[in-house]
Amino acid sequence: MKPNFFAPITGSVMPRFAGLATLMRLPYLDFDHEAFPLVDIGLVGIPWDGGTTNRAGARHGPRQVRDLSTMIRNVNRASGINPFSLCNCADLGDTPVNPVDVMDSMARIKTFFDRVCDAGVAPLSVGGDHLSTLPVMRALAKNGPVGMVHFDAHTDTWDGYFGGFKYTHGTPFRRAVEEGLLDPKRTVQIGIRGALYNDAEDTWGQQQGIRVIDIDEFHAMGIEAVMQEARRVVGDGPTYVSFDVDALDPVYAPGTGTPEIGGMTTLEAQWAVRALRGLNLVGGDVVEVSPPFDTSGNTAMVGATMLFEILCVLADSVNSRKGNKPSVKA
Ligand code: MN
Ligand code: MN
Repeated sequence: MKPNFFAPITGSVMPRFAGLATLMRLPYLDFDHEAFPLVDIGLVGIPWDGGTTNRAGARHGPRQVRDLSTMIRNVNRASGINPFSLCNCADLGDTPVNPVDVMDSMARIKTFFDRVCDAGVAPLSVGGDHLSTLPVMRALAKNGPVGMVHFDAHTDTWDGYFGGFKYTHGTPFRRAVEEGLLDPKRTVQIGIRGALYNDAEDTWGQQQGIRVIDIDEFHAMGIEAVMQEARRVVGDGPTYVSFDVDALDPVYAPGTGTPEIGGMTTLEAQWAVRALRGLNLVGGDVVEVSPPFDTSGNTAMVGATMLFEILCVLADSVNSRKGNKPSVKA
């Protein structure tokens, strides 16, 4: 195997519009590939929107994010982090799904991520609607609950839908807390907004100890203080990063199922994710990119870039757990 096997294909050898589209132009490999034991971070698509309650389409997210992620280069200009020099990253492909069965899809997704997580590979996935995070957490949090930094317009801690069906993209984090996968006291939700059915509807999470920073508090505090608070909440325990693109204002990310105006800007989101550097990060995702609602590909480009921002802080964290000294500029 060539030593540069895990490097993204450079645009000066193969133009960025050419070749097969993999996430960030990384090598695609499956679990049986001889290089799989070397992988530190596995990028995975979850082409599924079976949990969507309104505008469907996120099942098409991974394919379009792969296409637009070919724009991503190696080095984060702001932080100096080159994730591909810190960790072996690969595109592990898409999980199997059953587009007509929610429970079967979650089982298939969980089985796939068992193989990722049981091999010690940190998962970084592209949804898919937000219910896809639940089977990832079932595979990831086998040794105890994780904390979470969650960017979203919605808390996704509703109880059920249509008379008690428990699994939708509005319920994953209630289920994750109930199943002992997510520690509510180490969870912070950032960017929450939008109208409710009634004023008592969305308080369950806070009763469990989740720190909710809605968009008004986000702007009143300022990003630096918000992220200081987020770091305080999650502490130094294992922490997952979940980024729903509807955390962004629909001006920046119209291609999503449940847009809410008054959201954060793309630059604010980048600053926020960069501020997670140094935390004990164990995985992450970008979800709810829905290409049918933005055929220009802009939302997928935004999603791909946020995926890169998460990859940078995740790779820094994974690398420091390997005992290597940080290769980043001081
Ligand atoms: Mn969500
Ligand atoms: Mn949302």
